[in-house]
Amino acid sequence: MNLTVFGIGYVGLVQAAVLAEVGHQVVCVDIDANKVERLNQGFVPIFEPGLESLVRENHAAGRIKFTTDAAAAVRHGEIQMIAVGTPPGEDGSADLKYVLAVAETIGREMETTKIVVGKSTVPVGTCEKVKARIAETLKKRGRDDLSFDVASNPEFLKEGSAVADCMKPDRIIVGTSSEATEAVMRELYAPFNRNHEKMIVMDVRSAEFTKYAANCMLATKISFMNEMANLAEQLGADIEEVRKGIGSDPRIGYHFIYPGLGYGGSCFPKDVRALIKTAEGVKFDAKLLRAVEERNNDQKSVLFDKVHRYFKGSLKGKTFALWGLAFKPNTDDMREAPARVLMEALWNAGATVQAYDPEAMQECQAIYGQRDDLLLCGTKEAALRGADALLIATEWKSFRAPSFDALKDALATPVIFDGRNLYDPKVVARHGIEYHSIGRIAA
Ligand code: NAD
Repeated sequence: MNLTVFGIGYVGLVQAAVLAEVGHQVVCVDIDANKVERLNQGFVPIFEPGLESLVRENHAAGRIKFTTDAAAAVRHGEIQMIAVGTPPGEDGSADLKYVLAVAETIGREMETTKIVVGKSTVPVGTCEKVKARIAETLKKRGRDDLSFDVASNPEFLKEGSAVADCMKPDRIIVGTSSEATEAVMRELYAPFNRNHEKMIVMDVRSAEFTKYAANCMLATKISFMNEMANLAEQLGADIEEVRKGIGSDPRIGYHFIYPGLGYGGSCFPKDVRALIKTAEGVKFDAKLLRAVEERNNDQKSVLFDKVHRYFKGSLKGKTFALWGLAFKPNTDDMREAPARVLMEALWNAGATVQAYDPEAMQECQAIYGQRDDLLLCGTKEAALRGADALLIATEWKSFRAPSFDALKDALATPVIFDGRNLYDPKVVARHGIEYHSIGRIAA
């Protein structure tokens, strides 16, 4: 099938590459000319396991193309997929300006029947707005003879395993009331829907809402567990034991019950906020979601508070090694990353940070530029040298089994503040290192 994808970000690029891999002809269009040019030169702008080779191979085979030429891109696809960003507006609601700009482009450029598919995470009712914007634009052109339909098809990939998630989706949600559109969507996704039925077809509004409900449920699990962890500390219980104890109940399960520094990234924080705003719009008080967000905001300061207390409030002139900048492992994404809140609090207190992340160093440089109180180190060992403590903000696999003896030698003060509970407190203590983590009693 011929497919056009608007927005070459985490969602657009990964979906485009995966759909090209199974044989569809995909044209990706973005307003970022630099990104398009680099992709055409074979440079993949984001880190996702398996993505680079997938993009290169499909590009070389001519199944995926990158362009800024929206008119040509619209002409190409019978399906027009919208995967542009929906960042939070000033009041926290989802800003739809990019989505509606794409709708206008489609209305301006289309010459044949199109099926427009909303992949971006958008508030309930957005597909109707997209439909109205396309219809208005067609009318202005005097081409309201052209027919089109708008379906919702929210994306559930996880950064860090985005390619694998798109190759083997748990579910494919399609919001449409049109049998013809459903048939086209079934054909598009048939290669991913072979073993058992994964496509769940529903009305458009329910599909739009499903995405928010899913992310808010996951955010709630995280905030719940962080609340339990903070309470466990006060009660002298070990949250890691509690986690195993509750996870063994299949009604609870082990997924997404890790205590830590709170959720970050480009989705959970903005989607929780956006749903609170949506609820306000219909005069519904989303009490639980407000608490989830509040707990998360507080949680991002928990590690800094521990460090601050430990050094009795005097952090000026101190140097901290920081392992992990990305909001989670296997990505270079630092949007709303807990590490940022931590670093910024340390800087405000007059401390210097020696940071290392396996993938997010360039991103960190791009965000913060050159500063005297940030040293980006080439290895995790280099970040430790002479530091007053080691702080851990992301649970990268390569941090899980360090040489504690070398770590102790490198640090000026043998103390670890671990925001991800990577180590057994008894093991760390055996190496003569003081260890502070989340929801556990220091050994
Ligand atoms: P992103 O910021 O990585 O990429 C968005 C891209 O859209 C950018 O390259 C931008 O230049 C481009 N763009 C903006 N306006 C455009 C226009 N008019 N025409 C063409 N391109 C345009 O965003 P993302 O992380 O891929 O997220 C996209 C959407 O998918 C969001 O709604 C997000 O909430 C949702 N989503 C994201 C994830 C994730 O893990 N990142 C997962 C599921 C859903």
